[in-house]
Amino acid sequence: MHNRDAVFLEDLCPKLRDRRWRKSLHNFTDNSCIYCGKKSESIDHIEPLSKGGLSITKNCVPACLSCNGSKSDAEAFYWYRTQRFYDPRRAMAIRAWIDGDIRLAMRLLQWAKPKQLPTNIISNQNSKGGNFDIKAA
Ligand SMILES: [Zn+2]
Repeated sequence: MHNRDAVFLEDLCPKLRDRRWRKSLHNFTDNSCIYCGKKSESIDHIEPLSKGGLSITKNCVPACLSCNGSKSDAEAFYWYRTQRFYDPRRAMAIRAWIDGDIRLAMRLLQWAKPKQLPTNIISNQNSKGGNFDIKAA
């Protein structure tokens, strides 16, 4: 019996492996929906299960419930192009993901993220329009 200890826990418990795999997918996109950038709450099959899509990393992307539900069994790129939040950089990221190039997909997603303004720019904008002619009267 003792030599059986070598069996990995994950092999005994496929659910645990599945959960870890899903978590790793969400980590790739920093827990954001690959389509719209909101919080990812689910895994979307790019090629739907109903059309023979597989549950493998190349075919599974983190998505918010809204996108996942809206896309349903539609063709991913066709559906995505018709969305308000369509972003060509994200579309490229999805393409890279399908091609198995997760690293490229991550870079493209990083690029697509809204940039935060440095605080000094924001404070400059706030002080703009200050009335310097107030003593001219
Ligand atoms: Zn979404």
